Amino acid sequence: MSIKELDSQYIAHTYNRFPLEIVKGEGSLMWDETGKEYIDLGSGIAVNLLGACDPGWVRAVEEQLHQVQHTSNLFYTAPQVKLAEQLCLRTGMKKVFFGNSGAEANECAIKVARKYAAEKKGEEYFTIITLVNSFHGRTITTLAATGQEVFHQDFKPLTSGFVHAPANDLAAVEQLVAQYKVAAIMVEPVQGEGGVLPLTAEFCKGLQKIADEQDILLIIDEVQTGNGRTGKLYGYMNFDLHPDVVTTAKGIGGGLPIGICMLGERAEAVLTPGSHGSTFGGNPIAAAGALHILNRVNDALLQEVQEKSDYLFKTFAGKPGIKSVSGMGLMIGLETERPAGEIVARCRELGVLVLTAKTKVRLLPPLNIPMELLKKAADVIIKVAGEKA
Ligand SMILES: *Cc1c(COP(=O)(O)O)cnc(C)c1O
Repeated sequence: MSIKELDSQYIAHTYNRFPLEIVKGEGSLMWDETGKEYIDLGSGIAVNLLGACDPGWVRAVEEQLHQVQHTSNLFYTAPQVKLAEQLCLRTGMKKVFFGNSGAEANECAIKVARKYAAEKKGEEYFTIITLVNSFHGRTITTLAATGQEVFHQDFKPLTSGFVHAPANDLAAVEQLVAQYKVAAIMVEPVQGEGGVLPLTAEFCKGLQKIADEQDILLIIDEVQTGNGRTGKLYGYMNFDLHPDVVTTAKGIGGGLPIGICMLGERAEAVLTPGSHGSTFGGNPIAAAGALHILNRVNDALLQEVQEKSDYLFKTFAGKPGIKSVSGMGLMIGLETERPAGEIVARCRELGVLVLTAKTKVRLLPPLNIPMELLKKAADVIIKVAGEKA
């Protein structure tokens, strides 16, 4: 049986896979089982931050692989401590908890918010406000946080205590804060799965004011927007925000699973011995790789992200078949006249891998994609968007 047939027989049918098998990657290029080459503008959903098999990242991982692959969190290990130190130095956050995925990072943030509020204001202050069209993960609790009914169907009852306000609607948030006993507000700086929609500066300012005045924790989900994706190290740095909790995953692992929950001054003492934990969390190999990736996301790379972003916004604006361009940095959504799914399939035929988010075409290229490949891929997308269906 072929890989496709075996997959169909033995893998749970949770994914609508594209009809190709990826067998190799190098930088921003990928190859399928027939040897066909693709420019990858998806990065494994914002994961391969420096593309596939980046030599520096491979070296960092390999060195640790030969040192020790795992102990447990009963012992000290250097890679996770060094990674935590760098994260705190570069964000001003105070403490770090390591898990293994975005959902786990958010689970940690939610536990922190509940414990902080329970100790400070009382157990009845458990409500967390999140946004309509948000995406925070697939566990029962992070699904409850996710403000999209389509993901909730058939899994109820979900964890209680989550209410949703439309993005960029401050009045709606204020109303929920008045109506419920609120522990935290949790938002993505740019809604990823929800359609590549950035928050407005005014909305962010309002959220910060509410959080400060009412001692409500501000949780920023940077699982997709983090680690340079928006042109700043973290997406919230584009706004006047001082979060209490920042979660990240995806890109910082460079391809290995890691989930990170960073705690600011107000929240740093909430987690106490025994209150949370993870067997794999802070695994030395994942942490050594992530430390390398974090060090590579320097000012020069962030500048490059900004320049490539400006290029893409300018290039796509007003082109036939492209109705609008949204997003920030190298996280870009295109509203197109043809259905997004059709564009994804046609681009793939022409050797360019792109994603969708709701009804949009979504681009998440490796941050270090060479300009020449980015231009080539953009030309293909413009050609396809302008074709008659
Ligand atoms: C992908 C994503 C998650 C979930 O991450 P997993 O690693 O799949 O658990 C959570 N929040 C946001 C914003 C994401 O984009």
